[in-house]
Amino acid sequence: MSALSLGATIGIIGGGQLGRMLALSAARLGFRVAVLDPNPDCAAAQVANQVIAAPYDDPGALGRLADASAVVTYEFENVAVEPLRALAARVPVFPPPQALEVAQDRVVEKAFLNGIGIPTAEWRAVDDVQELDHAFQELGGDCILKTRRFGYDGKGQATIRQRSPHADAFESLGSVPAILEKKVPFEFELSVVAARGQDGAVASYDPAENVHSLGILKRSTVPGRVTAALAAEAGDIAARILEHLDYVGVVGVEFFATTNGLLVNEIAPRVHNSGHWTEAVCLVSQFEQHVRAIAGLPLGSAARHADCVMENLIGAEIDGALALLADPDAVLHVYGKGEAKPGRKMGHVTRIVRP
Ligand code: ADP
Ligand code: MG
Repeated sequence: MSALSLGATIGIIGGGQLGRMLALSAARLGFRVAVLDPNPDCAAAQVANQVIAAPYDDPGALGRLADASAVVTYEFENVAVEPLRALAARVPVFPPPQALEVAQDRVVEKAFLNGIGIPTAEWRAVDDVQELDHAFQELGGDCILKTRRFGYDGKGQATIRQRSPHADAFESLGSVPAILEKKVPFEFELSVVAARGQDGAVASYDPAENVHSLGILKRSTVPGRVTAALAAEAGDIAARILEHLDYVGVVGVEFFATTNGLLVNEIAPRVHNSGHWTEAVCLVSQFEQHVRAIAGLPLGSAARHADCVMENLIGAEIDGALALLADPDAVLHVYGKGEAKPGRKMGHVTRIVRP
């Protein structure tokens, strides 16, 4: 694809906070944005040129998005792959649908990673309670049962400790195809946000150490406990994933740091919450980097000019957010969502850590 021209329209499937931040970066580079989201008042709608209010898999709405856009991207991984492939026949779609197909199913994802020599937690695919009993015996010790698809922020997961019975756990997730993973005794969690351009160039941001609370990312610290050696290893793994998927755009790769080295937890085929700090302390943020990649432009520097801590503002934590500006080293980002429901990501704040 040749590079987009100034004033071209970028289509974004999904109008949450990630779509909103992508739209802001797109605008800064002189592009227009069309957003497809069922909610006409979604977070991205407030900063987009055009909103198509319809379900993500509505063929007519996808057609209108294709007509309006010079390139289409998506901000979450639960877009159906088949309509996206049909869309890709009409307009360039990045990241490529085959990457989405890998990332949206935990079994396909782990098989892909292991297949290219990247270690993960030990796992088994389980489609019914008998398979779950059998897998639990094989793996031994504490495990985590996860739905293969549609999980996010720790939803669709259950911890399994006892030998049996497992029917309740399986049913609690809706009796859907699942994966059983051995629980990893990690020292800490980290993630890398990396990008690949249409020319094959790769740029990786420094990894962040992540802390989750109730399954939701609470805090990303850069560099945290991530040593230079770990950072190099994580960056290499991310680059291998990008190349094997013939990827274009930004990816988030989540890892467990264990005493025996790094394990990959999961891949997110989009900009990632643990990369929000890049807007505060990098020349080119993950959002602009994604826009550059899908627009066929050169990637920018991922270099970081300060240590920092990013904290999510979840639910009622958004109340009084403007008071955070009393700290001159704090950068605030509010998502403009209506109701501050518990567990809902409402904004984030990044604070510079001075030496
Ligand atoms: P989500 O898609 O909801 O982010 P994850 O697979 O990343 O799902 O799981 C959410 C969190 O649960 C992880 O960040 C980690 O803290 C914990 N977790 C998930 N899988 C494992 C595992 N196999 N061993 C230990 N902790 C895990
Ligand atoms: Mg995760």
